[in-house]
Amino acid sequence: MPRDSGGSRIMIEIYNTMSKQLEEFHALHPGEVRMYVCGPTVYNLIHIGNARPMLVFDCVRRYFEYQGYRVLFISNFTDVDDKIIKKSVEEGVPADVISERYIKECKKDMQTLNIRPATIHPQATKEIQGMIDMIQTLIDKGYAYVAKDGTVYYRTRKFREYGKLSHKNIDDLRSGARTLLVTGEDQKEDPLDFVLWKPKKEGEPYWESPWCEGRPGWHIECSVMSRKYAGSTLDIHGGGEDLIFPHHENEIAQSEAANGEPFAHYWMHNAFLNIDNHKMSKSLGNFFTVRDIVAKYDPQVVRYFMLTVHYRSPLNFSQELMESAKTAYERICNCAANLDYLLTRKGAAVTPLTAEEKIPSPQAGIPSAGPVVLPSGTVVPVAVTAEEAAKLLAAENGTVSAADGLTEAEADKLGEADAFRARFEKVMDDDFNTADAISVLFDLVKWVNSSADENSSAAFLAVLRAELHTLAGILGLRCEMDGQAAAAGDDELASYVEGRIAERQAARKARDFAKADAIRDELKEKGILLEDTRDGVKWKKA
Ligand SMILES: [Zn+2]
Repeated sequence: MPRDSGGSRIMIEIYNTMSKQLEEFHALHPGEVRMYVCGPTVYNLIHIGNARPMLVFDCVRRYFEYQGYRVLFISNFTDVDDKIIKKSVEEGVPADVISERYIKECKKDMQTLNIRPATIHPQATKEIQGMIDMIQTLIDKGYAYVAKDGTVYYRTRKFREYGKLSHKNIDDLRSGARTLLVTGEDQKEDPLDFVLWKPKKEGEPYWESPWCEGRPGWHIECSVMSRKYAGSTLDIHGGGEDLIFPHHENEIAQSEAANGEPFAHYWMHNAFLNIDNHKMSKSLGNFFTVRDIVAKYDPQVVRYFMLTVHYRSPLNFSQELMESAKTAYERICNCAANLDYLLTRKGAAVTPLTAEEKIPSPQAGIPSAGPVVLPSGTVVPVAVTAEEAAKLLAAENGTVSAADGLTEAEADKLGEADAFRARFEKVMDDDFNTADAISVLFDLVKWVNSSADENSSAAFLAVLRAELHTLAGILGLRCEMDGQAAAAGDDELASYVEGRIAERQAARKARDFAKADAIRDELKEKGILLEDTRDGVKWKKA
């Protein structure tokens, strides 16, 4: 159960676009958060602007889960759209070949950025019947009408609260829209009316409907899919701020008219992403896909960077900022690596996440590393508080195991570790302020670096490690570069390299130095660097 159910901790507060205020979060269903985030139109590789809402709401979800909520996370793929059809004509393949291809590519990019898959990723083309049903309801209730050519329009003026999310006045909108009428829209009763269903054009995908053979307008899919998977009222509806008007405004009009209930309790919108202080656009030549960026920078650095700014502030992307993000993120990685090194020296078994665990699953927990097994056999998992870990260690033999030797001074120090956790939660409770959460993470790193050394007990080191990985894990950061992760996660490569290292050691033992050097050179050519240390041979990817 979430800790806010009985505890004294402060509630999570969310800035609600609808009320323009911070509001305490109260779940509609106890212990559960139902959220819907509008996903991409799949006609191309996603760009880094698409990645921002994915990353932001991935952190929101992780934090709710960390606080004990079950999260139902729904994010759609818009797979019927003019751009998809255009591309399918260009390539001479059916539209679903295009959309399926880019859904697959989008999921790959999400995994690269450690964005967990949604609980459900509905696709518009698989929910057409639901859309037809909702459109029929809207017609029956007088909120929609059928034009002569079979187009179904939403009767905007009938929905009295139209404009309440974007804080626009319907009369201002109407006078603005009057000049915007385009050809073929002359059957509209009002310029503000928007399309729910439209007739097919030659060569386009289409579906049968009571009004004409055709396809749905864009807005209806989100109203239908959110109701189908989460019920009439969502806890949270999210997306980029460019969706507030008209997309989210239209979703509200459709859902509330059809269901007679509020559509979402909290509306969250992330701000834009700029490139070198300019809007990203193809014509300016500053358009980057996620693929482009991760070819240049480690995906974990990209993720880290994008969380250093609060989601409601514009995020500026530049090479210079990325370079400094890399240096900063390395400090976190070095701190984690140093703890692992010290623990290994003490005889503890440090377990990284397995390659399988690194593939994020919808219900994965927060940890970004595996547990530590202390020399005494005590297992210290990640994702416990320092206090819980100290208790766990003490419970082992009625007292902390002598082999692991948590000293009294160290036990006192663990209290300080809990203070970082409290600060981290406080800033995340404040509308998911990941920027401040990262500052707390750096304070923790500084404190760990000055508190942990070779004289520290294994127990103490294990608790610090758990603390670091838990807080970083809430942000989806693994405390290592993915370059390292790739090397560590590739079991086939690892067993090959270790086999060759063993052969090299045998050659050296037999004083066959020529052979030993040849093996080293051969590995070097494959991009594997060997390092002879007191603890044996270590290797890494160049
Ligand atoms: Zn939507």
